[in-house]
Amino acid sequence: MDSSHLRRARFPLGASRPVASPIQPSVVYASRDADALDDQYEGRVEGYTYAREGHPNADTLARLIDGLEGAEDGLVVGSGMAAVTVAMLANLKSGDHVVGADQLYGRSLRLMREDLPRFGIATTLADSTIAGEIEAAIRPETRMILIETVSNPTLRVSDIEGVARLATEKGILLAIDNTFTTPRVLQPLSLGADIVIHSVTKLLAGHSDATLGYVAARDAGTRDRMKILAATMGLTPSPFDCWLAERGLYSFEMRFDRAASSADKLAGALSAAKGVKRVIYPTHPAHPDHKRAMALLGGIGGNMVSFELDGGRERVNRFLSAVSEIPFAPTLGDIGTTISHPASSSHRALSVDQREALGITEGFIRVSVGCENPDWLVSTIVDGVSSSV
Ligand SMILES: *Cc1c(COP(=O)(O)O)cnc(C)c1O
Repeated sequence: MDSSHLRRARFPLGASRPVASPIQPSVVYASRDADALDDQYEGRVEGYTYAREGHPNADTLARLIDGLEGAEDGLVVGSGMAAVTVAMLANLKSGDHVVGADQLYGRSLRLMREDLPRFGIATTLADSTIAGEIEAAIRPETRMILIETVSNPTLRVSDIEGVARLATEKGILLAIDNTFTTPRVLQPLSLGADIVIHSVTKLLAGHSDATLGYVAARDAGTRDRMKILAATMGLTPSPFDCWLAERGLYSFEMRFDRAASSADKLAGALSAAKGVKRVIYPTHPAHPDHKRAMALLGGIGGNMVSFELDGGRERVNRFLSAVSEIPFAPTLGDIGTTISHPASSSHRALSVDQREALGITEGFIRVSVGCENPDWLVSTIVDGVSSSV
């Protein structure tokens, strides 16, 4: 067979343009000649060269999230943890000290406890719901504070205003992971954070089919350092994942509003259910940060509800089989509801005592509320609770 006709084709682009963003998987881009390449490298014209350095699907997604976060020129990277890593490594050096919230996402905690110290970066963990505790952890060489708006899975609300005041006063970079709360509720940069971080994998993309992160900084120098480091360390996102996330993002606000409203209903129904020891929902009066949630979160409790079943592992397993239509899966922010059991998943590396200190018992259940019919969802979970007694 003669295959001499198999040369690189020209992709047809007519006078009209596609409404949906095309997926652009090309790793490399061709230029007219050496002068044209010079123009591009010198910034006189815009263009892509090599996908690890940036590609159109990542930029399209980044501009959309910039809009939601009130950020400029944010960066999409290969995962939420890549975003945390970029924020840290682009801004820290050996000899620096970081203060982190003591209830950070598990991998962020590991980065603080195990990995940064190997590179000569000291770390201290402190309670971010009390600005005074963060202040007490600060040293002369403290360069960064990393907190989350709402913690997993106890849904504690950080004292963002107090910590931001402190960071400004002392000239320390404040990085806020806004994954759980989302810009629908709060924009960290407008509250004084220097850096905002997302696991786009969760609520923003919303369909559990793309692993991505986002990081943006207020300061242009910080943004440049992060962009260069991400390209150097190869934290590049896949064009296909960016394309999926862009598609998911268009429905983010509708998904979030529906899920948050259902979560509020679920928290109320669980509070009245027999066999439930306690319900954790930030805007409910029994929550330890209720007042702060009403003010800081504008009374929006979000899509996450945690509760404690009266009983141990067997009760939990009976409950999980009673609600088997809802996936038992350790993620959050999917369009469908998922249920997780922190003691056997996200917090399994902790000792029983460490878990007890956080209030995470064997009976502790976390629900990431999705967009199903709210009546079905609430009755399925409440019936599961009562039938598992
Ligand atoms: C999931 C998560 C991350 C990590 O994101 P990946 O996309 O899984 O790497 C970071 N922070 C928070 C709060 C998360 O929930």
